[in-house]
Amino acid sequence: MKEALFYKKLKDKEVQCQLCPRFCVIKPGNRGNCGVRENTNGKLYSLVYGKPVSIALDPIEKKPLYHFLPGQQALSIATAGCNLHCLYCQNWEISQCRPEKVASFSMPPKRVIEEAINREVNIISYTYTEPTIFFEYMIDIAKLAREKKIRNTIVTNGFINSEPLTELCKYLDGSNIDFKGSDEFYKKLSGAWRKPVEEAIKIMHEKGIWLELTNLIIPGYNDKEKNILEIINWIKENLSVDVPLHLSAFYPTYKMLETPATKPEIVIKARKIAMKAGLRYVYTGNIPDKEGSTTFCPGCKKPVIIRQGFYIKENRLIDGRCPECGEKIAGVWK
Ligand code: SF4
Ligand SMILES: [Zn+2]
Repeated sequence: MKEALFYKKLKDKEVQCQLCPRFCVIKPGNRGNCGVRENTNGKLYSLVYGKPVSIALDPIEKKPLYHFLPGQQALSIATAGCNLHCLYCQNWEISQCRPEKVASFSMPPKRVIEEAINREVNIISYTYTEPTIFFEYMIDIAKLAREKKIRNTIVTNGFINSEPLTELCKYLDGSNIDFKGSDEFYKKLSGAWRKPVEEAIKIMHEKGIWLELTNLIIPGYNDKEKNILEIINWIKENLSVDVPLHLSAFYPTYKMLETPATKPEIVIKARKIAMKAGLRYVYTGNIPDKEGSTTFCPGCKKPVIIRQGFYIKENRLIDGRCPECGEKIAGVWK
């Protein structure tokens, strides 16, 4: 067990975790809402430090990160647990369970770096579940990765407090944040609320971490034009039209088996709305859509990166610029 970062000691050996906006007050012998942080005799410990449940090589496009070292592989790692409880979680078997209920293996940060070097990858991705809840493990890996010039990327729900996030940002290179919908959506489907996610997105953007956003479109919950426009307008007002947006189709899973899959035409239409509204890089996900998986130059509108699924068919960029008109394409290209 590793003592947690970011917590306060209270009276009677209670502690308050400061890592995420839940600020759980935890009595001795109890755990926080995420199920992986436990108060033992007045000290808070991470139960998942060095205990990944999943480690695999994925194309960086699978995160999805489309403007970050295209075509490269990322060593992707997760422990058990999450601080959100989305009814449609695709990885619920590892995210919504206590760590002792799922098989893990022992892998201290040094071993993760050795694994990345042995497999000749330049990117580590903290992903699959919610990296915030394995913060101590993530940041120790990230520091070592930085020393070896390996890039750190995170796929996150953004439900994290600003102090730990600011610390993490010192070592982060790229991020995909799930931007789910309205506050009501967060309350109804994820057991959380939206404001802290907005703050986290803004912090990462301000710190210059390469940022892409994902919005999963779920029929009946956030699939109306006004829902899409609200997300788009928020991005335009608070970030930049250069932030790529991935609009993904929902498939019935976990506790939402009765909700139908999102029709491809809804996602394709949402992309058109976002492009028309001025976002420069909008993609569709979880549906076959050649156009929606291609990066087009915002200057001359020609395709500059063509993808097939998660694989790069053609990357025409020259030093991050369109080969036709020279327009700079936002992203991390080398
Ligand atoms: S990280 Fe876990 S223990 Fe800490 S506040 Fe969030 S849910 Fe509670
Ligand atoms: Zn061009």
